[in-house]
Amino acid sequence: MTVATATRPLDLLADFPAIPPGWAYLDTAATSQKPRPVLDAIARGYGETYATVHRGVYQRSADMTLAFEAARERVAAFIGGKPGETIFVRGATEGINLVATCWAGTQLEAGDRILLSTLEHHSNIVPWQMVAGKVGAEIDVIPLTPDHRIDLDAMAAMITPAHKLVALAHVSNVLGAVLDAKRACQIAHSVGARILLDGCQAVPRLPVDVAEIGCDFYVFSGHKLYGPTGIGVLWGRSELLEAMPPYQGGGSMIDRVTFARTTYAPPPGRFEAGTPHIVGVVGLHAAIDYVDGIGLARIHAHETALVTQARDALSQINSVRLFGPDDSAGIVSFAVGGVHPHDVATILDEGNVAIRAGHHCAQPLMDALGVPATARASFGVYNHAGDIAALVKGIERVTRIFG
Ligand code: PMP
Repeated sequence: MTVATATRPLDLLADFPAIPPGWAYLDTAATSQKPRPVLDAIARGYGETYATVHRGVYQRSADMTLAFEAARERVAAFIGGKPGETIFVRGATEGINLVATCWAGTQLEAGDRILLSTLEHHSNIVPWQMVAGKVGAEIDVIPLTPDHRIDLDAMAAMITPAHKLVALAHVSNVLGAVLDAKRACQIAHSVGARILLDGCQAVPRLPVDVAEIGCDFYVFSGHKLYGPTGIGVLWGRSELLEAMPPYQGGGSMIDRVTFARTTYAPPPGRFEAGTPHIVGVVGLHAAIDYVDGIGLARIHAHETALVTQARDALSQINSVRLFGPDDSAGIVSFAVGGVHPHDVATILDEGNVAIRAGHHCAQPLMDALGVPATARASFGVYNHAGDIAALVKGIERVTRIFG
């Protein structure tokens, strides 16, 4: 089968030195490749402008502090928040654990309930189980619609005033399903619950505005947004952050320390104990500039076109089962009948196509889909129709090998 080569709205491969010619990198949902402006910003951060932040009185440190805080302003503007509500963490996982420990751990009581969905990543399940176990709260799970979205009608029917917290993926890392985030927030708030959105797969793929969405907490990881690993963001409403105790104790998060008593800095500093990932923050700033320079609406349109091409082509292969809705954002999960996804991925790798196979840190979702694992192709700004053609050719080879 041949796949028609569509006109390419984006042609950015040359910006990504780690993608050699002929290699179809289709694992952006796990982590994105890095464009030159990000690599250059990291090299400059360590090689030219490096110093600590917030403490030094010398000029270099003052300049680095300005760059660090400018990045915070950039991140806040990127998601429609305020700098004082924007906390640098190691990644989405740490952001969720922070909210689970410092908000849920102090606000929830025995008998309270937490509402999650079937398709959550383990990092949006396990921290809530840990805090629920500590305080005696219970967890309820929103089912999926037949086309594998979080069922918001079911959510509206099952939520009660006992639910104090809802935590949902804005975009599923397995299915690409996009949540109607505004409606989810309205439903949560209708019973007085707070809502956290896991934006890991949303921020690289959709324009996100936390004020417009109306959520209470939002988290994402820099490395999925074309930025470095080890840096991520927790955004929270200032009134919630101000009422939360610190996550970790150490330098930078204090107001005054004596052996008798320590008082804490206001947010965001209160939640940023220790020397931060200074150059990670600088790299994240460059990544956001890069993504904004392209425009998220264009990125979304580009990835939507790739998803459509991939789903159309794969649906013509009899043994392929597709998961998720047709309008998924940049991610296509599938199974090839009678072939384990790891074998699919291995054979594709022989043809220079890198996909992910496994449970994608979403075992409850695998259980709901009735499969042990899926094969997943996920797209970024550097992918093009040729990558889809290589994927389809690889799947055709899989079906030939396994008869
Ligand atoms: N949530 C989702 C939806 C994800 O895709 C991921 C990463 N696979 C995470 C959370 C966890 O992100 P990290 O490992 O960067 O903390």
